[in-house]
Amino acid sequence: MSEWIKQYARALGFELVGVAPAQPPPHAESFLQWLAQGYAGTMEYLQRTARLRVNPAELLPDARSAVVVGLNYAPAELPETDYRIARYALGEDYHRVLREKLETLLGAIQALAPDTQGRVCVDSAPVLERDLAWLAGLGWYGKNTCLINTHRGSYFFIGVLLLTLELEYDSPAEGGCGTCRLCLDACPTGALIEPYTLDARRCVSYLTIERRDSIPEAYRASMGEWLFGCDICQEVCPFNRPRVHQPLRAQPAREPRFQARPLPRLHEILTMDEGAFTARFRGSAITRARWRGLVRNALIVAGNRGDPALRPLIERYCHHEDPILRETAQWALARLAARQGSSGTQVCP
Ligand code: SF4
Repeated sequence: MSEWIKQYARALGFELVGVAPAQPPPHAESFLQWLAQGYAGTMEYLQRTARLRVNPAELLPDARSAVVVGLNYAPAELPETDYRIARYALGEDYHRVLREKLETLLGAIQALAPDTQGRVCVDSAPVLERDLAWLAGLGWYGKNTCLINTHRGSYFFIGVLLLTLELEYDSPAEGGCGTCRLCLDACPTGALIEPYTLDARRCVSYLTIERRDSIPEAYRASMGEWLFGCDICQEVCPFNRPRVHQPLRAQPAREPRFQARPLPRLHEILTMDEGAFTARFRGSAITRARWRGLVRNALIVAGNRGDPALRPLIERYCHHEDPILRETAQWALARLAARQGSSGTQVCP
């Protein structure tokens, strides 16, 4: 049955698949400590659901096995834009894609073993998912805190199908970064405070996606052109670089829904109202930032780009009713001026 499930999962398009015992994740304690140290920032939902997130029995009573899958999301081509978006958000929202495939897999298993109960987990318990992926042999933890597969790198989504079925378990993945510390040195905000530890409060992914209020000034210039998310610590990782003897590395996603959708230019984002935002990004993970968050990020990117043509668009927010957008516009104008070599003291007209 285990082998049949794996073959079926591969036929559904999953590049990686393994089976782990449905047990509390081995790294549960370090996750709880990480939360206690405040590294999760304003992601209170992690705190609220922490205990649930570390126990498969909370998600499916009598769970015995976890079928863990990996789906490559790296699009074949990065889109032409004047800003950057993390690769995982360039195509269709992964939640729907992954859930649909895992539900098909569950249906096929239940057709063969009708008494089996199952539960699909996609981002419902990320800690559990990553630990289970390690236990199922999909990859090992990198110093950038991503799960890395020696042959395929780290550009893949993880999904879990919990089952009440007993299956044959795979062995935990072996591998490691060795002495490499490229990700720690490349992180623009110093968010990787030590190997394997991320201070999310400094991470551009958290700042641009999860943070709802103002982005602290200390990190704005370091955001560079990242409008939504950040891939730097994955881009520099040698396991994401093509190698002659590693033909699977850096292969583009086979899933057509993960190919990059066309993106608006920065000036279009700066002129979008909430309705236009919703219509433009429907079905994309970018909606997670919400309209205000994306415009706030766009103002920062506009300042960082130093393009004088963007100045009138930044000024549109100088007297906006939203204080966060007003204040960010002020900063962006000063940054723009500084990038153009003037004193950096220009303010809203
Ligand atoms: S995603 Fe970007 S900001 Fe966050 S840890 Fe990686 S390199 Fe640093």
